[in-house]
Amino acid sequence: MPQPIPHIVVVGSINMDLVARVARLPRAGETVSGRTLESIPGGKGANQAVAAARLGAKVTMCGRLGDDAFAPQLRASLVDAGVNAETVHSTPGCSSGVAWIGVDDSGANSITVIAGANGRVTIDDVREWEPKIQSADMVIVQGEIPVPAIAAVLDAARRHGVRSIFDVAPVPTEPMPSECWQADILSPNQTEAEQLTGLPVDSWMTAEGAAVALHQLEAKTVVLKLGILGALIHEPGQPAVRVPAFQVDAVDTTAAGDAFTAALAVAWAGGSSLAEATRFACAAGACAAMTLGAQPAMPTRAAIEAVLSSTK
Ligand code: ADP
Repeated sequence: MPQPIPHIVVVGSINMDLVARVARLPRAGETVSGRTLESIPGGKGANQAVAAARLGAKVTMCGRLGDDAFAPQLRASLVDAGVNAETVHSTPGCSSGVAWIGVDDSGANSITVIAGANGRVTIDDVREWEPKIQSADMVIVQGEIPVPAIAAVLDAARRHGVRSIFDVAPVPTEPMPSECWQADILSPNQTEAEQLTGLPVDSWMTAEGAAVALHQLEAKTVVLKLGILGALIHEPGQPAVRVPAFQVDAVDTTAAGDAFTAALAVAWAGGSSLAEATRFACAAGACAAMTLGAQPAMPTRAAIEAVLSSTK
């Protein structure tokens, strides 16, 4: 049965990824010659907005760009993907978010993220975006904008009865207020779950332990992203549900988590059960892992369905 088209509001970061290919990463004080430089639109918020649009959702992006040369390119990339970017503000006198990435011949990387305009998202911005949040079927937010803004987004969603997903990536360095724990789904990956709980997460059993610890910290439903294991759903007081990963030839897992979160939101908002939506999200993550890059690797519905049907 075809699902209704959900309206997803993504509040989050928009970055330009500057990727330099080098034989070897430079040490402090050293200069090395790079081979190529690519500029690729990224940022967890923008990646998830593009991914949700590619899956057929109506998507509104809320965030901030700077007033530099990257800003129009980043805006165009959202619009070209079919994302409504009218609620992406310009920030005078500020650079856009940039991830400055060196990749060496062994595939090892070193990444410097400059938050730029992403760091200027305020509670007042969220107040202005509130009518969009109110009209959404689901709201997604990640950790790449200031904590007070994240809390305001999740509080607005709760007040308007709109379901929310908080992809805790990266884990904020400052303590998270209670609003942040009130997301309908808290979705950290393995490392983020370890950072939030102080517990090791390297198996289904330890993941369950971390999910219980997250509930003790006030989290509602937890959906843990566990890389090649798959994902674990844990609702308070209920047995955990293990959703195994799909066996694929992975070449680059960059943004697998972004594809996962967007697909989870689109399927859940579209009426799937949480278990079905998580299976769809695991297939989306597997698709992203089969393709190089971030936004270019965000899968279509057909690609996800091919992975789902390959294992029936
Ligand atoms: P993040 O990108 O945030 O670190 P993960 O690496 O856990 O998140 O990936 C998100 C989801 O994508 C996983 O839960 C899993 O379902 C899927 N996935 C990731 N890597 C692979 C892989 N190598 N093979 C199959 N599925 C994968």
